[in-house]
Amino acid sequence: MTRFVSGRTPTTNAEAFERALLVTPGGVNSPVRAFRSVGGTPVFLASGRGPYVTDVEGTEYVDLVGQWGPALLGHAHPSVIAAAHAAVDRGLGFGAASTGEVELAELVLDRLTLGEGHAERRAIEKLRLVSTGTEATMTAIRLARGATGRPLLVKFAGHYHGHSDALLSEAGSGIATLGIPGSAGITPETAAQTVVIPYNDEAALAAVFAAHGDRIAAVITEAAAANMGVVPPKPGFNRLLADTAHAHGALLISDEVMTGFRSTAAGWWGLEEREGMPYDADLTTFGKIIGGGLPLAGLGGRAELLDLLAPLGPVYQAGTLSGNPVAVATGAAMLRGAGPEVYEHLRRAARAIGDGLSAALAAEGVEHIVAWAGSQFSIFFRADAPQNYAEAQDQATWRFGPYFHAMLEHGVSLPPSVYEAWFVSAAHDDAAIDRVLAAARPAARAAAA
Ligand code: PLP
Repeated sequence: MTRFVSGRTPTTNAEAFERALLVTPGGVNSPVRAFRSVGGTPVFLASGRGPYVTDVEGTEYVDLVGQWGPALLGHAHPSVIAAAHAAVDRGLGFGAASTGEVELAELVLDRLTLGEGHAERRAIEKLRLVSTGTEATMTAIRLARGATGRPLLVKFAGHYHGHSDALLSEAGSGIATLGIPGSAGITPETAAQTVVIPYNDEAALAAVFAAHGDRIAAVITEAAAANMGVVPPKPGFNRLLADTAHAHGALLISDEVMTGFRSTAAGWWGLEEREGMPYDADLTTFGKIIGGGLPLAGLGGRAELLDLLAPLGPVYQAGTLSGNPVAVATGAAMLRGAGPEVYEHLRRAARAIGDGLSAALAAEGVEHIVAWAGSQFSIFFRADAPQNYAEAQDQATWRFGPYFHAMLEHGVSLPPSVYEAWFVSAAHDDAAIDRVLAAARPAARAAAA
């Protein structure tokens, strides 16, 4: 019988993928990484530093994936790495309470404290740490059902909240990339408990509450949608969600797994000023950045709601690795390093890249629009910014594959799907930006072909 362990590390992406295909489904551990929608062999990364990642062949790329969000300060930021080393030296995990968990919760809550002129209320009073964004949203829904005693969940088409059963109906991200409606393995009874409506659609929201208002436990929304490409809420839409839910005794769950500490909650972008977010949300989920690049996420809200969780309340939730000491240390280092100047830098870097790519596409006559939510952005191959999933899908998606591969050939790594947001970091300096802009014209030519 063939043995798999050869003791030799692959030195080409093709060899790495070939071996991966033999031992993991599709050769990957998360579907979008497989390059299915852009074609070709996935790049296997060996290291990352600052704005750059390097593959097993030694090719360096300017990275606009940013670990899908966590790499706010760039890859292997010295303060985050030092925090990880120090924590590792004290032990990898204890399965018991540890002070680092408390410190991270304090940091998160302090960053979300309302400034002068806001309501007295501090909506995020307590935080439960979990290991993934999926767990955070899954727990938020269970908690909303436990708190209200109601069964139904309202979600928006094209929003992605992780891969738990209740949340895969018409989800964005990999579900959009693979062009499938949901997932096999979810019972019709479970699917029927989630009502999916179009995003940014006041009439659909009113209709769903008119029809089912007294059975709806919660509405869940991405604070600014970014898993069908970037589609921010219309002005006032998040506030309308809170008001409508509350008028019917339902809760609002604001999913800030991607946006939190990057573009909306505490991202110094100002959406929370404009929309009353996340402070009018009853529950808020976080992930990605608050773990500093390691598996950690969280669920926050008012104490009266969070105290319904075990061990105080009847809503069960637990985790062997929850609040892992290394992950809380890297998360804390990341948050400590993310001051207002970081967000100012992100904004400038993202604008320079987005505007430069847009100019190159325009010069090649490619119809497109760059959509923004703070420093998060994505390019749609259509004339105007979409407001919902149907519009996001109504674009010249076939242009993205050639665009993506031309970028890769010129040393720029984009998310391998037209439906994903692009991320810059505090480490994207002029040299990195210039390298992206140098790739802009050839990539635009590839998209035009
Ligand atoms: N919610 C949002 C808005 C996300 O973007 C994601 C992941 O991209 C999740 C939840 C799920 O997080 P995780 O992949 O850590 O389970």
